[in-house]
Amino acid sequence: MKIELVKLPYETKALEPVISQRTIELHHGKHLSTYVNNLNNLLPGTSFENLSLEDIVRRSDGAIFNNAGQVLNHNLYFTQFSPKGGGNPSGKLAEAINAAFGTFENFQKEFEAAATSLFGSGWAWLAEMKDGRLIIVKEPNGGNPVTKELIPLLGFDVWEHAYYIDYENRRAEHLKALWQIIDWNVVEARYE
Ligand code: MN
Repeated sequence: MKIELVKLPYETKALEPVISQRTIELHHGKHLSTYVNNLNNLLPGTSFENLSLEDIVRRSDGAIFNNAGQVLNHNLYFTQFSPKGGGNPSGKLAEAINAAFGTFENFQKEFEAAATSLFGSGWAWLAEMKDGRLIIVKEPNGGNPVTKELIPLLGFDVWEHAYYIDYENRRAEHLKALWQIIDWNVVEARYE
């Protein structure tokens, strides 16, 4: 099964000023594209060849895990944004956020703190446990919550390639701005 580069559901300049066109072009067109190409070169002839991307991430290690993890991570990442995003989650997801974190504002605070404090490259995830409860998970490098039997709902990429052109070393500032472009309809659909 050939792994495809995920199509952006918006123009490359649509997320400005939160994420610049240049960053989207490099992040999607170069970084993610490289992970996709690497994976397509690594998979043929292995036992992972016909598995879903999630199952490859659950079962592999080494180079296949790193590249498959980053493809899965970025597929979730790029499709969770919209130029019309922002605001608050609603419905069952909002209820679960309040149950786990008290308020949406407190969830944002805890999520930003997890992402800011992650040392080096990695991801902060809002993830769903088997019973529907929510948890914030920090993953190093290309990790994804599916390896912990969790469902990834929302991911903030803290690799420097995600923000360095626009925010230089100000990771926390970048993370705070991301809330403006989160498409909560997409995140809610992942929860249901
Ligand atoms: Mn990235």
